[in-house]
Order: sequence, then structure tokens, then C-alpha cells
Amino acid sequence: MDRIEITNLRVFAHHGVYEEETTRGQDFYVNMSLYLDTRPAGLSDELEKSVDYGALCSFIDSFMKKNTYKLIETVAENMSREILVRFPEAERVKIKISKPHAPIPLPFDNVSVEIEREWHTAFIGLGSNMGDRQEYIDYALTQLEETQDVRIMQTSKIIETAPYGGVEMDPFLNGVTKVRTLLTPVELLRVCNEIEDGAKRERGIHWGPRTLDLDILFYDKMIMEDPDLTIPHADMKNRHFVLGPMAELAPGFVHPVYGKTMADMLEDLGN
Ligand code: ADP
Ligand code: MG
Repeated sequence: MDRIEITNLRVFAHHGVYEEETTRGQDFYVNMSLYLDTRPAGLSDELEKSVDYGALCSFIDSFMKKNTYKLIETVAENMSREILVRFPEAERVKIKISKPHAPIPLPFDNVSVEIEREWHTAFIGLGSNMGDRQEYIDYALTQLEETQDVRIMQTSKIIETAPYGGVEMDPFLNGVTKVRTLLTPVELLRVCNEIEDGAKRERGIHWGPRTLDLDILFYDKMIMEDPDLTIPHADMKNRHFVLGPMAELAPGFVHPVYGKTMADMLEDLGN
């Protein structure tokens, strides 16, 4: 992917574990690659279509001066998230923070921390079959939107579907929302569980009635199987209420395990 690079930006700041470091300060060096599509700017010659590297350098300088952290890991972590939020054209950022005057009583050239962070795309399944179902779905969407580092991109139509799994109960409202997030899958699951808890969901019968059910259907092209988290979400090939909304939002999205598009999987399932 295209990128803008900053090499050895020197910033005098006060990060460190020792008191002397936080009072006296020292020079830090920042190397950064900001990954974005530069083609719109390249074709139009308009700065607004790219990231202004002058503004980026000023931002780095002021961020590092106005905060004091013990660890350069924390400087890198917090600065990467601020940059991805503040410069929305940026898809990914690689940051290396060097501290050549770190208090190490041995001869050395440099110490540094380098991290890479990026926006991820996740699809979250929404379901409710108790109480004011639409209100629970709206609540979930509002809560997701208000979560730091989660942005809703698009939400499918909310459809009514018959219950699934052989338990006798009321029909569901179901839908899918597509989000952009800086959270890891496990962090995103925790957010979903907290929102479910906020909707007073009690975990009772498996596949039983629920005020609100939030499932992570996909997270980029990731495949993972942990005791608490399976991605892509299990059993979707048999679920109209997942494949219908998915095919509406992303008909050409390919399931990373089955290698089939959402549109094809919906067709395979039939009516
Ligand atoms: P279901 O959604 O299958 O009807 P629950 O909502 O009661 O069942 O989920 C039970 C558990 O499923 C959750 O506590 C969670 O740890 C686990 N789980 C595994 N994979 C996922 C996923 N992709 N999204 C959400 N929950 C998941
Ligand atoms: Mg669930």
C-alpha cells in the first residue's frame, strides 16, 4: 500500500520510568510510516485528499510533549490510535520510537519500540426476541457507535425471522452491522458482552430467548478458534438470518473458511 514516511523526527519530551527522566527530559526520535491510498491526491494534486505531513509532524511533537508516560510502548500505542482516529485517510500506521539517551549504564547506540496498528473491519450480528426488540437493537447500535475505537460503517435492514435451534419461542429481529475498529477480536467480544449485559440479558438456555444477542460474524479474513471465541462465527451456512443481511451488506465478501461469497452461501441455503 502507498505510504507517507517520516524519518528521525526529533522530539524533546519527558517519558521515562525514572524521576530524572520526567523532570529533565530527553530527545526521542520518531520514525513513522502512514499507509493510505495516495492516488486520489496524486491524480488531483489536492492536499485535502492526502495527509498533510507537516500537520502530522506537529501532531506527533505536541502529543509527545503534552503527555508523560513511563514507557515508550505506551507513547507508541496511544499515539498510533490518536493518529488513526485523527487522520481518517490512514488505514495503518507503523511507529518506531527511539530513545538513544535511555538511562542504561552500558555502551549502546539506541533502544526503540516499533508497533504497527490498523483499522479492522468486522461484521456483527444483531438479534433480539424479547421485550421491545427494535429498541434493544437500536440500543446495541448506539452503544457500539459510542464505543471508543469502533465506528459503524453500515447496517443492514432489520428483518423478522423464525427462532432457530428447536427451542419454542417468539420470533427474532435480526440484522448485521459493519464496523471499523481498532480493537482486537477479544476486546470487541468484551464490548459486545458488555452491551448485552446492559440490555439485561441473562444467559439461560442455549439458543433460548434473549433481549439482545451480539455475535462477531467476521473480523477481516481472520480464522480463529479459542474456547470463548470462534471467528468466523459458527454455523452461519445454515442461518438465513445471518446470510440474508450479510449478502445485503457485502454480497461479494468471501467466507475465509468456505471460500464462498455471501451471495453464493445464501443461494446454497435456498429459501
Ligand atoms: P449464541 O450466540 O451461539 O446463540 P450466546 O450468545 O449465548 O450463544 O454465546 C455464548 C458464547 O459464545 C459467548 O459467551 C462467547 O464467548 C461465545 N462465542 C464464540 N464465538 C463467538 C463470536 N464469534 N461472537 C460472539 N460470541 C462468541
Ligand atoms: Mg451470541
